[in-house]
Order: sequence, then structure tokens, then C-alpha cells
Amino acid sequence: MHEVKTTCPYCGVGCGVIATTDGERITAVRGDPAHPANFGRLCTKGSTLHLTTTPYGRALHPEIRRSRDERHTRASWDETLNYLVEKFATTIEQHGPDSVGFYVSGQLLTEDYYVFNKLAKGLIGTNNIDTNSRLCMSSAVTGYKATLGADAPPACYDDLDHAELIVIAGSNAAWAHPILYRRLEDAKAKNPSLRVVCIDPRRTETARAADLHLPILPGTDVALFNAVMHWLIWEDATASEYIAAHTEGFADLRTSVRECTPAWAARVCGVREEAIVQLAQWWRESKATLSLYCQGLNQSTSGTDKNAAMINLHLATAQIGKPGAGPFSLTGQPNAMGGRETGGLANLLPGHRDIVNAEHRAEIEKFWNVPTGRIPPTPGKTAVEMFDAVKRGEIKLLWIACTNPAQSMPNLASVAESFVNAECVIVQEAFATTETAKLADVLLPASTWGEKHGTVTNSERRITRVNGVLSPPGEAKHDWEIAAEFARRLQRRLGTLTSSAGEGTALFPYATPESIFNEHRESTRSRDLDITGLSYGMLETDGPQQWPLREGEAVGKARLYEDGLFPTANSRAKFKVTPYKAIVDGTDARFPLALTTGRMRDQWHGMSRTGRVPQLYGHEPEPMITMNTNDAARRGLAAGEVVKVASRRGELLIRLAISDDVRSGQCYVPMHWGKASLSSAGSHGINVLTTSAFDPVSKQPELKHAAVRVDRAILPWQLVAFAYARDRDPVAVCDELREIASALPVETFASTTLIGNERPGVLLRLSCASAPDRATLEQIDRVLGVGGLFALAYDDARRNISRRVRVEDGRLTGVRLAGDLAAETWMRDFFLSGISVTELRQRLLAGSATAPDGFTARGKIVCNCFNVSEREIVEFYSSNDLAMMNAANKLSALQSTLKCGTNCGSCLPELRTLVSSATAAA
Ligand code: SF4
Repeated sequence: MHEVKTTCPYCGVGCGVIATTDGERITAVRGDPAHPANFGRLCTKGSTLHLTTTPYGRALHPEIRRSRDERHTRASWDETLNYLVEKFATTIEQHGPDSVGFYVSGQLLTEDYYVFNKLAKGLIGTNNIDTNSRLCMSSAVTGYKATLGADAPPACYDDLDHAELIVIAGSNAAWAHPILYRRLEDAKAKNPSLRVVCIDPRRTETARAADLHLPILPGTDVALFNAVMHWLIWEDATASEYIAAHTEGFADLRTSVRECTPAWAARVCGVREEAIVQLAQWWRESKATLSLYCQGLNQSTSGTDKNAAMINLHLATAQIGKPGAGPFSLTGQPNAMGGRETGGLANLLPGHRDIVNAEHRAEIEKFWNVPTGRIPPTPGKTAVEMFDAVKRGEIKLLWIACTNPAQSMPNLASVAESFVNAECVIVQEAFATTETAKLADVLLPASTWGEKHGTVTNSERRITRVNGVLSPPGEAKHDWEIAAEFARRLQRRLGTLTSSAGEGTALFPYATPESIFNEHRESTRSRDLDITGLSYGMLETDGPQQWPLREGEAVGKARLYEDGLFPTANSRAKFKVTPYKAIVDGTDARFPLALTTGRMRDQWHGMSRTGRVPQLYGHEPEPMITMNTNDAARRGLAAGEVVKVASRRGELLIRLAISDDVRSGQCYVPMHWGKASLSSAGSHGINVLTTSAFDPVSKQPELKHAAVRVDRAILPWQLVAFAYARDRDPVAVCDELREIASALPVETFASTTLIGNERPGVLLRLSCASAPDRATLEQIDRVLGVGGLFALAYDDARRNISRRVRVEDGRLTGVRLAGDLAAETWMRDFFLSGISVTELRQRLLAGSATAPDGFTARGKIVCNCFNVSEREIVEFYSSNDLAMMNAANKLSALQSTLKCGTNCGSCLPELRTLVSSATAAA
């Protein structure tokens, strides 16, 4: 056994991880106590990383399908790369460099990004390289650049400890950036006068814990920020000396917000005027204001303005460049920052340079030693534009690396057409089971977390080493290796295209990721992100470092702009006028509900990794859309029933949850559920509903909001089944069940998820207009192991009711209920808890809704680490007299008894809510 230090591959907090390995498997992970992002902590997602490294579904060998009528066949790397080189060369020669495109990922390491970017812009001569970071961070980039002059978050995690006011906007940090949120909880515990404000349409865990929650209507953030600016100006609470010395454009901004009174904003935003004034007052009183923001500001058609309007507030009050202050964009993906640093987007060049800047192009052409004019002067196609160009046939070859656009892009029906129209889709991916990998004409097996080596940059500009623990399986190769080897061959094949780079000049001479990092490092010299003082050796010996870190410097810069000088032509920051614009895809009589999307506590993006861990389904086991009580009552809808959700682009079937955490007139769905978990009505998952309308500057699409209609789905016949996967991978069992469901009529709701804690299992749910044939049920039973001689059976053909139950060693190991699900809740709990059912044999097939005497359903799992359910927590409070204790002591009492919230802490916000409810109930 030995340990390897690496980095978590999920969110932008960028936690350090120590992985333990026996040489064949990663057997455990723990937080790296020395890592300055997490100091030893990991959230639920990070602490289960080792459980995601299962072999099922890994892409192991290159595969080619030369025409869509053929099946994929296994090929050698040599054959595959030569096939691709020929395809690219002939396409480029016939149709020009812009006939090809690359769509890469914020999951790639900086070194991978660098090679892909150089391949597209430096060798092929196309700027058609964009990334899924476009869907996530590009409005933060344009917001920073429009105001501060550079794409550089000026604050750092330590600022949480110095802030007096923290404004969280468009972010459920408690779930999406859990370890950072733990630091906020610590700061609040140390300094109870720290004020926290949450701006979010939904009452999230972050909102619940805040001192002030502004549940604004979706898309109205700019109106709110402008009103706060209006109040600060009106109350003479701006920092006039700072404004005069370090900024420009304030007079125009002041004019633009003249009419933006809190009363006006209250009407636009749908919140109380007093709450807006309260925020403004707190902003005035605070000596150190930190704002934390994420997709709620970014994924919007006015994303740039939302970001800029927030930054305007910081500039106007000099809340920047000092401890505890600054506009701090939280990065969604682990290396969205690294991608920007290498210029791996359609409008960027390495070292935070811009495509449209002739000087920048010339610098990089010289740096890369490629002919002058190789880099086209106009930006390439950004994410949405790229898939549209593929659909129109302008981009003929599309190379996708380490991302799953067939699930994650908005308006998936349109994206599906792009895949059909592309001449060739190349997918470089670790998992052959993603929706996108299934559509590949050429599949290139890639390494993934636990195997890759390189660097990533987290939200606070901190660069950390990523280290491989195991070798990639099968013939999988590292992403940079694949791109570099293809590039070398293409350079040889294109010959004349590259001759002015010098005969024999090797543009891609890399033998290790370190050699790529060193070249990337040099591209940052004298730029705002200068890392010429950094090396792999320094990262190993001194640990993760923040940029800039110039040659000769021993440490990087914790916070930027402390001297009031900004990276603009005159060193002044710029106020950006941000007029409020109504949301696109607004509601009307046909689509009366505003749907917002968000993140679950225990899943990551498209779930290709977290979706492999049964424990991570305990908190939210199945895909659900949440609607307000009044809206559901008005439609006569009940919790748990299947509803049809339709937007202007598509529709899907999904089950309903009811909660007043969502305001009337709105509904909410987590963004994670794709076709792999939710296959209904021929849909591709949640993003069949979302719009591809994008911000005109950042080109980031409005994934956060869509106008929808929610109606009852008339699907009276229902089935639920759950069973242990035995010696099979539960994901493989899910895939088989989905195959069976896909043969059912289009108007069928089907969801397949994982279940279980110690023993992995699967959960299937079906709703149909009428009962499927007997053969379908038998197929399901066979896959789940609840058929034949091993199972107890009950059939009532007249009422279309059928039940199968499997009992082994006195415990339930599989259940299939069809036609009548009344007994589901208690049977599922018996199944999960492994309680003996020996005494219950008579009841197992009776289908009664009434649980056996003395049994109460456990409810949802709140603490995954110690498998503690909501019921157990409620029972603890009702059976212990804690009336005299304060909230903190009540929480400690709970933790010392049930242990919940004492490991990763991801459930702490929910535990606090349960403490408050228990206190209120008492
Ligand atoms: Fe990973 Fe959780 Fe840390 Fe994010 S907060 S980097 S998901 S461990």
C-alpha cells in the first residue's frame, strides 16, 4: 500500500486528495491536510472518489465506424490515428481549416488543454476550439475583463475569514462548493457578527442559513444590483476618493441607475423593497464585503452584465484589493481556470491573450514558431455556435474530448441533429457509456482521474499538481498524448501547410506533461497571470501556488489589485453600464412556469463518475421536478406522480416533488439527470427543455432558466423494482434495464438509478398507459434476479397486478411490484436496512400499504458517510429533552450520538435546518 497526493476532479474548490493504492486499485481517499484549499476536508463527492474507479464502462480500445451503417470495430492506435489524419487532411484541403472543430472540457488538465489549443490554432489554423467551460464560466470571464481588465478573480479563500459581509448570488455553495462553504461556516462561528446574504430564486440550503435571503425572480439580478447601486449613490455611501483615483466611467453609471430605485427593483425582482434596502445598508456598513457567485449569474443571456453589475458595486465602494473584500467568481469545474490560462477557448490565446488582438496573435505565432497569419483574426465558433455549424454542415469533423455534450448542451433536440449531420464525430473519452461516446464514429479511449498527471487551477488562482495513481486500463492513453501524437502525424501529412514553420520543426515535441507545462509557463511571461517562477518541482516541494508568481518570486499573490492598479490601458478599472433586460424565453399563457435548474448535493454534472456510486443516490434517489404547493394544488397534482414538462423546445416525463422552497410560478429541476437515468418520451434528459439563447458577449447559454408547462401525464400502470446487483456492476444492470425500457411505447416514463449502501443495487421505475406484455416483465425479472424459481410470486391478471419478491438468508434481496405500488415504501426500507423478513413471509406478497407493526420508514438519507436518515434525526430530537440547549449544543448532541455530519460535513446545513425545525416544533 502507498499514498499519492493528487486533486479532486469535481468542483472549482480544488481540494487536495491523498489516494491510497495497493498497486491495482485505489482503495481509499482522504483529504490532504497540507492542501490550502481544504486542509484535509473532502465533501461527499470527493470522499467517495475511490468508489468511482470501477472498470465497468471504461473505453479500453480505439474503435472506428467508417460509415453509419457499420458497427464499430476495434482498431490499433496506429490505424486509428492514421485514419483520422487522412480524414482531417483531406477535409482541410477541400473545405479549409474551419471545416473542423474541437469541443473540449474544463475537466481536462492544463497540459491537455495547451496541446489541443496549439493543435487547432497553431497547426490547423482554425479557432474552432471551444469548451464546456463556455457553458459554465465565460460570463465571469467577460464580466471581469469588461471591468477589471483581466480574467482574474481578485480574492482568495482566506478572505472568508476577514469579511464582514458575504453576498452569495446565484450559487447554492452549501451543495455546489461544499468545502468552501465549510470555511464560511467556520468564519461565521468565529465571528457571529459576519453577515451572510443569499440571492437566489429558491430557498436553498445556502439561503436557509443566510441572515438575509432575497428570493428574486429568475433573471432579475441586474435590476437588484442596480438598485443597490442607486441607494448607495443616493445615500452618498460610495467611495468617491477610490472612484476618482482608480476607476473611470462612474458618471455614466450614475446616470444609468438614476431610475433604479429599490421600489422599482422590488417590483421587477418580486422581493420586498425593505429587503433590498437592508442589503444596501449592510453593504454600506461593511468594511470588508466579499461576493461569491456562480451559475445563477453566469448561465444567462445577460450573464456579462450580471457579473459586471456586481463588480460595479465593489468598485464603487472600494471593496476590492484588501482582505475580506472582492468580487469572487466560483469556478464550476476543476480546471475551467486552467483552460482560460492556456487560451483554450474560441476567442482566446495562451496567456490570457485575445484572438482579435493582432499583437497577441503575432506574439503567439512567434512563440509557437508557426507562419505569420496562421491564427485567423476572428474568433472561432463557441459551444452553441459550434454545434449549430455542425448541424448546418459547415463544420464537418467534430472532435469532442472529455465532455458529454449530448447530455450537457442546452436544447438537446437541436444538438442531436448536429450529431446526425456531422460527417465524423470523434470522441476522446474515458467512459464508453456516456451519451456522447455512444454517438462516436471514432472512439479514442482516454485516461481519467486516478491515472492522469498534470496541473489544474482552482477558483482562487491556485495551481495544484494532479498525479496518477494507476496506469490507464487497456489501451487508454492520456489526453495530451493522444492530441500530441495526432498533431505530429497531421503536421507530417499536411507538409506544405507547415513548411514555413521550418523544415522538420517539431511543433509537438512533448514527452511528458512537464515539458508542456514549461512551454505554457513561458507563454505567460509578463502577462497578468505570469507563472514564470513556477515549476513542477516547486509544486511538489512547496505545495500548490497562486498566480501570478513571477520568476524569482517565492510565493504567488493571494489577492490582486491591492495597489488600485488594474491591467487596463490606463490602469483604471472601468464601470460598465448594465441596463436591466427582461429574461429571454419568458413565461406566457402556454408556458406559465419559470423552470430553474441547479445542482444536487451528491452528484457531479452529467454523473458519468458520481453516478457509479450507489451511496451518492441516498440523498436524492430519483429524478424529480419540484413545484410549489399552490401550483401543484391548482393543477390537481400530487407528490410522486409522473408529470409531463414541456418547454418551447421539447418535453419530458418526470416525477413531481412538492415544496415551498420553490416560489409559486416557478419550478426547479437538478441539471444532472440525463438519458442514463431518465429515459422518457424519447427525451435526452433535462436539457431537452433548456434554451440555447446566449449572452451576446460571453456566448454563454441560458441554462439556468426556461419557461415550461407542467401537466399530469396519464400513465396509470406503474412498476417499481429494486434488487441487489449481486456480482455485477450495478451500472451495467441499469444499462440493461434501460435497454428493455427503450423498447416500450414512446409515452413511457422510465428511470433507472442506483440504490444501497454497503451492498450496491438498482432501482427501476416505469409508468405506462397500459401494462406491457408478460415477456417484458419476465425480462426485467431476469435482469434483477427476481424471476423464476428463486422468487415468491403473486399475479392477478384481471387487475394487472403482479409481484415478485426474493428472499435470501431471511432478507429481502429483490422486489418487483407492478400495477400496485402501495407496499413500496416499507418494502424498500426493509430491503435497504437488511432487517430480517422471516416473520413477514405472509405479508410480502399481500401488497399492503401498511407497514408491519413497529416499523417506520427511514425517509431520505441525510448523512451519507454514516448512513443516517431524516427519521432518525427527528426521532433523536423528539426522544431527548434538549429544550434548554442552544442550537449549536443541540447539533453537537446529535452528532455525538448519531455521528452524522462529523466526517465530510456536506449534510451540516441540512442538520442545522432539522435542528431549527425540531426547536420550532418543541
Ligand atoms: Fe471535490 Fe468536494 Fe472539494 Fe469540490 S468541495 S473539490 S467536489 S472534495
